[in-house]
Amino acid sequence: MKIGVLSLQGAFAEHRKMLSMLNVESFEIRQKKDLDTDFDGLIIPGGESTVQGKLLVELDLFEALQKKILEGLPVFGTCAGLLLLSKKIENDDRRHLATMDIKAVRNAYGRQLGSFHTQGYFDGIGEIPMTFIRAPYIAEVYDKTRVLATVDGKIVAAQEGNQLAVAFHPELTDDLSVHQYFVDMVRRRIA
Ligand code: GLN
Repeated sequence: MKIGVLSLQGAFAEHRKMLSMLNVESFEIRQKKDLDTDFDGLIIPGGESTVQGKLLVELDLFEALQKKILEGLPVFGTCAGLLLLSKKIENDDRRHLATMDIKAVRNAYGRQLGSFHTQGYFDGIGEIPMTFIRAPYIAEVYDKTRVLATVDGKIVAAQEGNQLAVAFHPELTDDLSVHQYFVDMVRRRIA
């Protein structure tokens, strides 16, 4: 198994570290020729969705990655990655990959709660630590999208088939369980 980590901006190195702790091979996707490598799953890290979205287009990665996701490539987006996957963003006119049937709210926790840490229940895993940094939440899910976690009544993790979107940053804790959940999604697809 090999996982590509979109490495244009943001917390990509931390995701690769989590994967290496799970003994999963990964590589950085920085430019079009990196897509010549075969890979079984994609991680889109936290950072700035607007910057990553712009670079995806400028570096001509956008269409190829969108196509792979729509064809079933397992993808895991955290924070800005969730925004890149969202079909709808309530408070931003920009759309990016827009492959997942969710409506997100950007920078949804306001200034004072820009960053916070809590514990929450993740369906299929249990209680886990959750670190939020200028995070979005998911206001609505549609169609086949399943809610996996809520914090204070707001949806913070969801899955639609091959797509997993999480508003918090599991890669900034030492809890490997959400990465393991994604690796299991990838394993089921390639089995
Ligand atoms: N606020 C960022 C955005 O809108 C997301 C923050 C993050 O990824 N930690 O893209």
